This record gives sequence, structure tokens and C-alpha cells, in this order.
Amino acid sequence: MKVIVIGGGVVGTVLSLLLNMRGVSVTLIDAGLQRPGYPLVHSKLLRFREDIELAKVSENIYRDLSRHLGMNVLHDIASITIVKQDCYEGEIKDLLTIWKDAGVKTEVYFNASDIKDYGLKSVQSDEVYVVSNGGDHLVNMPKLMDHVRRSRDIVYINGKASIKRNKQNIEVLVNGDRYVGDHVVIAAGAWNSIIMRNVDVKLPLLPYKCQAAAFLSSRVNGIVYDYVLDIYIRPLTPMLSSLLGRFGLSIIAAGDGNTEIKEPGTNGYIDEGFLSELMSKLRLRVGRVLRVGARFGYCEGTPDMRPVIVPLLKDRLYLIGGFNGYGAEVGPALALAVTEQLLNGTWPRYAEPYLVSRFGNAQDFVWDINKEAHELCVD
Ligand SMILES: Cc1cc2nc3c(=O)[nH]c(=O)nc-3n(C[C@H](O)[C@H](O)[C@H](O)COP(=O)(O)OP(=O)(O)OC[C@H]3O[C@@H](n4cnc5c(N)ncnc54)[C@H](O)[C@@H]3O)c2cc1C
Repeated sequence: MKVIVIGGGVVGTVLSLLLNMRGVSVTLIDAGLQRPGYPLVHSKLLRFREDIELAKVSENIYRDLSRHLGMNVLHDIASITIVKQDCYEGEIKDLLTIWKDAGVKTEVYFNASDIKDYGLKSVQSDEVYVVSNGGDHLVNMPKLMDHVRRSRDIVYINGKASIKRNKQNIEVLVNGDRYVGDHVVIAAGAWNSIIMRNVDVKLPLLPYKCQAAAFLSSRVNGIVYDYVLDIYIRPLTPMLSSLLGRFGLSIIAAGDGNTEIKEPGTNGYIDEGFLSELMSKLRLRVGRVLRVGARFGYCEGTPDMRPVIVPLLKDRLYLIGGFNGYGAEVGPALALAVTEQLLNGTWPRYAEPYLVSRFGNAQDFVWDINKEAHELCVD
């Protein structure tokens, strides 16, 4: 079987590896439009039960890939979730049981003095702190991407692909060449809908801008999901974290998970408003910070902000997307689902809620991008 994968980001990379490990001949085409510069967060501390299931499957995939490729891409890390008392009572208490079933150990604290060791300050008097172990990881996605590009078993083509319908077949055009496979899978993130325009297919997908910045700060231990200030804070890399930690310092990456609809290629800049708001929130939570970098990228959402798998053209063509801010958390599981569908003709049960059929037959989808699906304490 020959499969052409368009898009070598988070999902296309894992999909190519999974197919290749099962003996499928893979051609991976990537335009180099977006690439994570540092490890991404993988967390099972999610809001929806089905997403937590995907995060568990994804964790196992990272472990399998690490074993198979002889390189560890999964680094365990503790986290602190900070919420207000009413969110704790109304939402988090119930989630603790689901997280426990997913192998997460949690301890709940109500006093500011309990979070001092994590390098954090209390901001409001009604804060609750959930310290978790076994639920979060940093995934070395750049390493996996480099591996795929160097692999002799996967044909890697650097270029911008477009697709063309030819009777019941799909042709992939890149760098002036034409490729035909048994199946084509489009995993081009925020560029998915642009590619689909060529074949006149409208899907419930919207691209939006997502941004983050890096700071030098006093030492912060673990990942911080701060739902009081609506920001997240995480070490940039595990290595930097252990190196700088000896001097009481950290390089942290932080963001706010806010969304603004934007087609890729337009207005590629970091918002000054985003940076100044983020810095003032960081000062409250961790003290003084010095900005050392900033990054923006494009993410993709669906009407319910959960990912989607779209089978098209009698299963010759698949699209997998809508991963908003949690592609490293749930993406590999759905890449495995597509792999199983291609090889066995059936969807694993965990993938069924993510099929595009959940949106019905509407052709003209009108909606606004919502809060990302991994956010907690959302009204
Ligand atoms: C700053 C930032 C920080 C983030 N942090 C995290 C995190 O810690 N954890 C997490 O889970 N998620 C995080 N995300 C979100 C995560 O990056 C996305 O969920 C994920 O990348 C989606 O995966 P994807 O494979 O669908 O798309 P992408 O990873 O965006 O990959 C799409 C790929 O398609 C390629 N492409 C596009 N068009 C074409 C074409 N025509 N031909 C060929 N190739 C094409 C692009 O070059 C790109 O490589 C972050 C996002 C940003 C911007």
C-alpha cells in the first residue's frame, strides 16, 4: 500500500511513522510553513472524557515510538493547576476521579504557602492548587520531525503540495511533479481548508492565530495551568530547566490560549497587547521576568473545538485536523485511528466521536472560534 501524507507537522509526522512501522510505503510532503521550536506539552488533565482517552492512547504511542526508534521523546513533568474555589467545587473535583483513572496522582492545596516551592505566588485569596504527577509530559516533537526527515524508509519531499481530483483518484502536485497513491491523507493543520478549496470541498475548519513567548524568570517547577489569570507557564526544555534550575532560574514559555481567526500568511506578527498582558500576569504569578523570545503560529478549530477526521472520495482521501492548542495531546491517537482504518477498514471505538459526521450534512458552516478544548473552568 502506498500512502501520500500532506503536512509533516505534529500529526503528519506521527502518522508517517505509524504507517511506516506497519510496512506501508509512505511519501511525506511538507512545505516547512510551521514547526515547533521546542518540546510540546502532552497532558491528560483535560476536560472531556473522550479527549482524555485520546491523550492516554497518544502517551502509549510516544512510548512505543521511543522504544522503536531508540530515542526517548517523552519527558515526565509535574504540573500545578490553579483554579478559583467555585471552579474547583463545580468542575475540578469531578475531573480528579477521571484523571485518577487515567493514572494521574493529584494532591489538592488551599494555602498559598504550599505552592512556594514551585516558584509561584498566590494572586487571589480563593485559589485552589492541584499538584499532579503522572499526567503531564514534554514531547520532543522537533526530534521526531528531524528523524522522519532523515529516515531512509520514508520518502520525504520538501515542497508545497496541492491536490487535484481526477475521476475517482486524487493527484498530488508538488514542485512540478505529480504523485498518486492508494490513499492521500491531508494533515496540513491551519492550511487544511486552503488545500481543500482546490477540490471545492467546504469543511467545518477555521484557522486562527496562536502565540506564545519565552522569558527568563526565577525558578518555576513544572507546568502551570493558571485558570485564575488565564495563562499557562511551562519550562522551555527539560535540559534548560535542570541546567538553569541550579542557579534558581528558568526559561519559561507562556501563553494565554486566546484565539483570533486568521488565515495563514496574513499579518504574521506577535501582538504587543498579548505580550504586555502576559508579562503583567507573569509578574503577579512568578515575579520579574525578562522576555527572551516570542512566537506566533497558526492553529485550527472546529465548531466544537474538538479534532475531526474526514473520509472523502470513497476513502481515497482523508483529512485529519482541527487540533487547536492540543495536537500533541490528542493528535497521535487519531493518527493511529487513520492508520487502523487504512489497514483494517475499521475505526477504533475511541475515534468514532471525532468523525466529521457529528456535524451533519451542512455545507455552509458559520461559527466563531471558541475557547480551546483543553481549557478548564470555561463558562
Ligand atoms: C506557539 C505554539 C505553541 C503550542 N504549544 C503546544 C503544546 O505545548 N502542546 C500541544 O499539544 N499543542 C501546542 N500547540 C498547538 C499545536 O502546535 C497544534 O495543535 C498542532 O501543531 C496541530 O498539528 P497538525 O499536524 O494538525 O498541524 P501542524 O503541526 O501545524 O502541521 C501542519 C504542517 O503542514 C504543512 N503544510 C501546510 N500546507 C502544506 C502544503 N500545501 N503542502 C505541504 N505541507 C503543508 C506545514 O508546513 C506544517 O508542517 C502550540 C501551537 C503554537 C503556535
